[in-house]
Amino acid sequence: MKPHLEDHLRQLPDDELPAYVYDLSGLRRHAQAIRDALPERVELFYAAKANPDPRLLQVLRDVVDGFEVASGGELRHTRKVLPRARLAFGGPGKTAAELAQALELGVERLHVESEHELRMLCALAADRPLKVLLRVNLPLDLGQVSLAMGGRPSPFGIDPSHLDACLRLLAAHPGIRLRGVHVHLASGLDATEQLRVTEHVLTWAAQWAQARDIPLGEVNVGGGMGVDYTDPGCLFDWQALGTGLQRLLDDHPGLTVRIEPGRSVSAYCGWYVTRVLDVKRSQGEAFAVLSGGTHHLRTPAAKGHDQPFEVVATDDWPWPWARPAVAGESVTLAGQLCTPKDVLARRVPVERLRAGDRVAFAMAGAYAWNISHHDFLMHPAPGFHYLDAASPDSSRPGSEAPPSAVHAPPSRGDRVAQRRG
Ligand SMILES: *Cc1c(COP(=O)(O)O)cnc(C)c1O
Repeated sequence: MKPHLEDHLRQLPDDELPAYVYDLSGLRRHAQAIRDALPERVELFYAAKANPDPRLLQVLRDVVDGFEVASGGELRHTRKVLPRARLAFGGPGKTAAELAQALELGVERLHVESEHELRMLCALAADRPLKVLLRVNLPLDLGQVSLAMGGRPSPFGIDPSHLDACLRLLAAHPGIRLRGVHVHLASGLDATEQLRVTEHVLTWAAQWAQARDIPLGEVNVGGGMGVDYTDPGCLFDWQALGTGLQRLLDDHPGLTVRIEPGRSVSAYCGWYVTRVLDVKRSQGEAFAVLSGGTHHLRTPAAKGHDQPFEVVATDDWPWPWARPAVAGESVTLAGQLCTPKDVLARRVPVERLRAGDRVAFAMAGAYAWNISHHDFLMHPAPGFHYLDAASPDSSRPGSEAPPSAVHAPPSRGDRVAQRRG
């Protein structure tokens, strides 16, 4: 953990925990390193569903080329936070109302998921010009990946055998321009696997377009760049991806490749910080019960992993009896929910963990707070802190606020509006 983060964690009062702490300067540096590793002809979009927190979106605005939104809610939210950002609207099950809104709010690219969706779009677009990609579910053996979204029967995208019907529809509606295809097949790929999938997709797309005499302007190969929850220091190899993409682009002059990662961009900037309420033993095993739990950070339950963490030892102990503690053994870190699923890390060896110590869970910046079931058991929401070395004031909602500003949970549109107002 970086020293400025640890300092911040240490000076947070107990009653302000649990809290999410976002390292905005770290996010800016990380995203810039990703951008720098990619060739110019590769456009970098951020998948807002990984974490749509306005403060993160504002940092990313200056680095990425645009944002991928996957629902009407994300579309309205992102448009409000970033009025001028380039937006791509994807995702299954778009309603007619969402499509109408996309036309109204001026999305730059619409990723069409089915023939029916394209028909609705044609009916709604009238003479409004719009550029679309057809999302295709290509048959492809993906091997062992953490989340397969395609390559096999799937609700996502259009089966290749239905593409010609889509082309006939498009031919009858010249206002809607086909820019190319979109493919997001899996999450959790390393750079070698990403390049293998991308090469396959580009080859297929070029042949498909050529056979139909369609100008192929753009191929979006999706997100899914892997992160390693067992080793937070082991990052996706963006240099290798960039070099490999340049090589592929050399074979496809005039083509723009777009990627839209989420997790691999924002995971590392978020920390979920809490404290140990109790330590006990049960049938020989050690358990630490933490303030908060999977209703704030559902990621380990959703993905079935141990969330990586660091112990921040504290010396305060207000009680006259000995602190419950474990040392030099494995401990299971559970939350406050009345369910055995409320576990953040299972049987992980620790040097020492005592009631009153703090635990900072790493890699909590993506698919973390925003995928969690916040209202279960009605515990209070965590605080939200934004550390930004580049502009210290930007971590404060107003000039009178204390340095460690606590914000309302950013997931609800009305609260976001209040805070931004
Ligand atoms: C979720 C999603 C992404 C982002 O995936 P990550 O694994 O977070 O990189 C990109 N594109 C589409 C279509 C998605 O559904």
